[in-house]
Amino acid sequence: MQLTLQSPVQYVPRIGPRMAKLLEKLGAITVEDLLYYVPFRYDDFSLILPIARVRPGETVTISGTVISIKNAITKTGKKLQEARVADQTDTMNVIWFNQPFLTRIIHEGDTIRLAGKVDWFGHKVIMSSPVYEITKTEGSRGSLHTGRFVPIYPETEGVTSKWLRGRIAYLLDTVLQQAREHLPIDIQQTNRLVSLREALASVHFPKTLDEGAQAKKRLAFDELFWLCLRSRHQRTLWEQTKHAPPITIPKEDLAAFIQQLPFELTNDQKTVVNEICNDMTRATPMNRLFIGDVGSGKTVVAAIAMYVACRNGLQSVLMAPTQILAEQHYQTITKLLSQLGINAGLVTGIRIKNAGILHSPILIGTHALLSKSTTFKNVGLIVIDEQHRFGVEQRKLLQEKGKGEQTPHLLTMTATPIPRTVARTMFGNLDLSILTQMPTGRTKIKTWLVPKEKRENAYAWIKKQLRETGGQAFIICPLIEESETLATVKAVKSEYERLKGIFSEFSLGLLHGRLKPKEKAGALERFRTQKDAILLATPVVEVGIDIPNAIIMLVEAAERFGLAQLHQLRGRVGRGSIASFCLMFTEAEDEITIKRLKSMETIHNGPQLAEVDLSLRGPGELFGSKQHGIPPLRIASFSDKTLIHDTQKAVDTLMQSDPLLATV
Ligand code: ADP
Ligand code: MG
Repeated sequence: MQLTLQSPVQYVPRIGPRMAKLLEKLGAITVEDLLYYVPFRYDDFSLILPIARVRPGETVTISGTVISIKNAITKTGKKLQEARVADQTDTMNVIWFNQPFLTRIIHEGDTIRLAGKVDWFGHKVIMSSPVYEITKTEGSRGSLHTGRFVPIYPETEGVTSKWLRGRIAYLLDTVLQQAREHLPIDIQQTNRLVSLREALASVHFPKTLDEGAQAKKRLAFDELFWLCLRSRHQRTLWEQTKHAPPITIPKEDLAAFIQQLPFELTNDQKTVVNEICNDMTRATPMNRLFIGDVGSGKTVVAAIAMYVACRNGLQSVLMAPTQILAEQHYQTITKLLSQLGINAGLVTGIRIKNAGILHSPILIGTHALLSKSTTFKNVGLIVIDEQHRFGVEQRKLLQEKGKGEQTPHLLTMTATPIPRTVARTMFGNLDLSILTQMPTGRTKIKTWLVPKEKRENAYAWIKKQLRETGGQAFIICPLIEESETLATVKAVKSEYERLKGIFSEFSLGLLHGRLKPKEKAGALERFRTQKDAILLATPVVEVGIDIPNAIIMLVEAAERFGLAQLHQLRGRVGRGSIASFCLMFTEAEDEITIKRLKSMETIHNGPQLAEVDLSLRGPGELFGSKQHGIPPLRIASFSDKTLIHDTQKAVDTLMQSDPLLATV
């Protein structure tokens, strides 16, 4: 069978079903995936020297004949392998530790290449644990593991870089020719990109480091380019095929409505309101992503949009990820709009007791809104809160509940602090609104990373604060809601018992994902009404809860959270007028983790913290484990702003000259 780029890897010679399983873990399913499995660095073994000229301290490749090889045991009982290798100029002693199988692979008389560091061993100059390559097994590409820049790949149990090199070199020899150039030539030229085949070959086996970097740049460009192009193309389709319900803005009434709000809108909020109003008056339905830190005041903006829809005789639907949040929104919206005679309905269970509720001008709810039995009357606006919790499919389902030929306007809100660059790349098909200002009067939340030995002091300090101010505290245990099992619930419960002892003078509540909805609501209500002073919770409280009297946020095992998530947790406090605090505990000691967590002390801006996480942990970690509909990048990085900028420019140019994408 002839291998193609789409062939499963198991059909590649010397891979087979067992190795294919392992490769799957690395994300390599097809031959093409393996070709695109790029190294994260190269070992520099490019300096090839005759033995007589090597010096201790150098990293080199030597080439010669094996004179002897044997197993030995050191005085301290360690197993080691000793060899002597000679070329025309001199001989070299070589040792490996604890690799007895080597004497079965390397034989006297073999021509061999060795790469690694040359060092002193007692009084002798030796090579210790070098990479070896027996010359007779070399393929057409020449040496793969020595005498060059050698690719080092992300590995997994049973899959080494050395093995990957061999298989990838084989594919480069056999199927690379099938890779078709797909970037328009002028885009290649403007961006000084090497050809696709050249890139795929030299990203693995570059002659120079620069060649490797150029290859990687080309592949990263591709990845971002197609992502961005797809997204823009979807936008074009959306604009050409979707029709919005016609809306006019009741300007004077709207101004009056905004005027009577209990606070003045921030300039940012005003801008977003304008952006939304503009969108809603167009013939194409709005598709806007609305990003704002926790507490930045997104809800009132959504309420304004719903008011506008309602004045046009259209229904609005607001979907929240949890029942708690849905209920909170219901209360907030009711407070804002019921005085104008606009009533909201709450839908959180599958069974709806009063079907009339579905005719309310505003419907607020959870996933229950998606169920088949809920058919709406006349939906013109859909607002989704915390969109990263919902899959793309669910969003589509909701949208299809629009009226006849028309597609409702869609506003998606999130507090996930996505860096602007990332948002622009990933969501090029969406319009973007960002709240950067916080409502006035909000003070910074003083934040500390508490060293282990100060835990007891911290508890004492918290007690004192609560006593003196009458405020309340959250204590967060790091169990991710989606994966809460009985075992972890048990852990929370024992922590609960422990804390009851420590905070014996206070009443303690418990909230976790395994509670029944009623129990959850009950626990929250007790905290809201200040019956409980402390709420021990898993991160179910992460999003949106508004409890002004909560002044302390304590996070256990903070290292398990992304900074973005910690920032969201921190946003649960500091909503009232009393000074608020965030304390983080960690058992971790490594420098990067400490540095990462410490940045919470100085940075109080969500997107900026996300950037820090991006640079310290890499994009894979950026959004945590949650479903977010964001495809992970394989080669490019969201932190590469220049490349992202260049790609977007290229997409702009292409879309202008060829909006239907006939040429790509
Ligand atoms: P989020 O963006 O996290 O959803 P909310 O909409 O829950 O934030 O708003 C947080 C709090 O800030 C609410 O109590 C809200 O009433 C208040 N708020 C919103 N906008 C303003 C403003 N312009 N001035 C003062 N307070 C505001
Ligand atoms: Mg909110």
